[in-house]
Amino acid sequence: MAFMESVIAFDYDRPDSQGGATCTAQAWAKVPESLGPGEAEALKAEAAALLREQGAVLVAHYYVDGHLQDLALETGGCVSDSLEMARFGKQHAAQTLVVAGVRFMGETAKILSPEKTVLMPDLEATCSLDLGCPADEFAAFCDAHPDRQVVVYANTSAAVKARADWMVTSSCALDIVSHLKAQGQKILWAPDRHLGRYIQEQTGADMLMWDGACIVHDEFKGLELQLLKQQYPDALVLVHPESPKAVVELADVVGSTSALIRGVVDGKATRYIVATDKGILHRMRQLAPGKELIEAPTAGNSATCKSCAHCPWMAMNGLKNLIAALRHRQPRIEVDEAVRVKAERCITRMLDFTATQKRASSGMTPGIGAA
Ligand code: SF4
Repeated sequence: MAFMESVIAFDYDRPDSQGGATCTAQAWAKVPESLGPGEAEALKAEAAALLREQGAVLVAHYYVDGHLQDLALETGGCVSDSLEMARFGKQHAAQTLVVAGVRFMGETAKILSPEKTVLMPDLEATCSLDLGCPADEFAAFCDAHPDRQVVVYANTSAAVKARADWMVTSSCALDIVSHLKAQGQKILWAPDRHLGRYIQEQTGADMLMWDGACIVHDEFKGLELQLLKQQYPDALVLVHPESPKAVVELADVVGSTSALIRGVVDGKATRYIVATDKGILHRMRQLAPGKELIEAPTAGNSATCKSCAHCPWMAMNGLKNLIAALRHRQPRIEVDEAVRVKAERCITRMLDFTATQKRASSGMTPGIGAA
């Protein structure tokens, strides 16, 4: 790994490369098969009964299976982005949190609520950003730049968060970096290079970047998106800022998952091209039933590899492994107490900051409205 003053040249394995740090073959092999409607309803009823019996609450991300999202909403849980998942889990009275998402989301819940039991359907559900930012190499990066505020994206391990001054999510990154810039702070940013570049462009902050990427968003293609826009000139383009620059530049709305949903619900257009994990379409269709949603392209002439715009680690969450987790009270998230205490500081700082900001949930593009 080599350090440079504006861009970090990090020896990062190509996403999905065979045997690479972010190889997804193992995750895809564990993705549950689709359920028939009758089977899904029966399993949802079984899971709801277990949640009720155990006084547990389900906290789900927009990218997980639609049945899990519905179950969360039908049982008093939440479906949201990672910022709201963290808030909800911390504030809810339930002593058992079941997190349907990826491992760092379960860790965040445990860090904020150490007294609670945090269950997950599968602890191997992880994230290429987390995998691409090993704690020891990240610590060396921080040690080499002690003059910078360390800002890490939520998609990192507890050990990486323990080294950070601030945690951010895509809902609040712009506000927090703007705040730090106004204080004259220089920033060390990790791990998503695309989100970091977007924030840097928007704020003009002095940011030194780690070179990580999300395997899903990294695969959206600017050239193919342009062609799709020509095909549907009336469509608004919604883009998550973990996407490459060429894709972000074609966007009408750039923002967190919550901001993109708001973009569809509030948008005047009837047609939308969506560049984020396609799991989000489930909630968009529920909230904006009259709108036509088109997945942004991940393949075509400029593709280097074909993905399906779906995160295999998110897809590992299903009703059956959720039920098994509730029945066995396993697997559960544990975080070393010394690491937890350190990691809690940067998450609490973010939650306190966003609670006092008018624009805390306003998404990332001015004028879009609340996220
Ligand atoms: Fe990580 Fe991307 Fe999957 Fe989200 S969609 S969990 S950022 S790999």
